[in-house]
Amino acid sequence: MKYCTRCLYPANHPYGITFDEKGVCSGCRVHEEKDNINYKERLSILKDIVDKYRSKDNTNYDCIVGVSGGKDSHFIVHIVKNVLKLNPLLVTYNHQFNTQVGIRNLKNIVRKFDCDHIRFTQKPNIIKKMAKISLKKMGDMCWHCHTGIGTFPIQIAVKYNVPLIIWGDHGNQDMVGQFSHYDMVEWTKKIRQEHAMRGFTWRDFINEEGLKKSDLLTYIYPSDEQLEAVGVRGIYLGNFLNWNAKQQTELMIKDFGFETLTQERSYNCYENVECWHCSGTHDYLKYLKFGFGRATDHASYDIRFGRITREQGIDFVKKYDAKRPKDLDILLKYLEMTEVEFETTIEKLRDQDIWKKNEDGTWIVKDSIANHMNDDFVEEVRVPIKDNSKYILTPENEDIGDFEHVFM
Ligand SMILES: [Zn+2]
Repeated sequence: MKYCTRCLYPANHPYGITFDEKGVCSGCRVHEEKDNINYKERLSILKDIVDKYRSKDNTNYDCIVGVSGGKDSHFIVHIVKNVLKLNPLLVTYNHQFNTQVGIRNLKNIVRKFDCDHIRFTQKPNIIKKMAKISLKKMGDMCWHCHTGIGTFPIQIAVKYNVPLIIWGDHGNQDMVGQFSHYDMVEWTKKIRQEHAMRGFTWRDFINEEGLKKSDLLTYIYPSDEQLEAVGVRGIYLGNFLNWNAKQQTELMIKDFGFETLTQERSYNCYENVECWHCSGTHDYLKYLKFGFGRATDHASYDIRFGRITREQGIDFVKKYDAKRPKDLDILLKYLEMTEVEFETTIEKLRDQDIWKKNEDGTWIVKDSIANHMNDDFVEEVRVPIKDNSKYILTPENEDIGDFEHVFM
């Protein structure tokens, strides 16, 4: 397997990645752009854009913001309310795999930023069926969540006639460099469909486990006519602000009481605090399919920001990426499935470029970033340590406690 000579990403990254002549990945190169962008100018462009959408006579909301209870939700609402001085309508799709901390953080956003908030909760039994179906179809029991997050806010924008939707950063931009920061990419139905939804739609769930269209209304995107009638537009703050999730989260902890959650499969306790499975089984599935997990993501970001060395990142990957998560037990119980059934279900999705099946039926990884410590160009393209600040909480000191889905 080819790995980036700067960060830790492999060539089989599911979002697609390319390498330049020195072996540096597209994600690392797009990250570098941030050093040359005039963010003062970008902020003024952002202010001009949002001004056009501000309710002139205070008869409606100025924008829609999707919130989950995570670190980015806090930061986006902070920017929208306190910097841009907008009156947002906050919208949440309840994925039902909540943590106590996630629920607490969601309440904290509404209270601290004093905003109106709508939260949609699907029938729990439908979620269970969808989780089962999507695990079988695409090796991801969280399809309903990705799709709900990318549909419910747009439905509300249409219903309430609020054209502007404000998102955080575009995940694939900084991660794999799918877009340049100079593209100023905006929300599209195509990105939602091809990436968040893995090419599937609500129609793929019809008649499976007895599901009907009336069970799937939250996953149906508004029509082009409806979108055009309101003029729906989704922008990413990541194009206008020098996005630095760690710094932003620390500001949210200090000034607005955001709470972190120690993670079992990463050293970074700032991310994915609102869902058990995000860093747990959902991410473990990524490892079972592609041979890398969340610690690779977190370490790659931290290497690019000059917070850790590539070698320290590799140590984290060795420690966390292959770890079987504890939340898998509650998921198996919830889905009424054995671990063998779970592994058999996703067997066809294992990338054979990285996984090999032994004669006894067990699977082994054929390669790992640990075998690429001294590849050509690693020294030449190295990011020097620029930021020595540690994460405020580290997993070593914390017990992760018991898992339990908090449905409401
Ligand atoms: Zn890279």
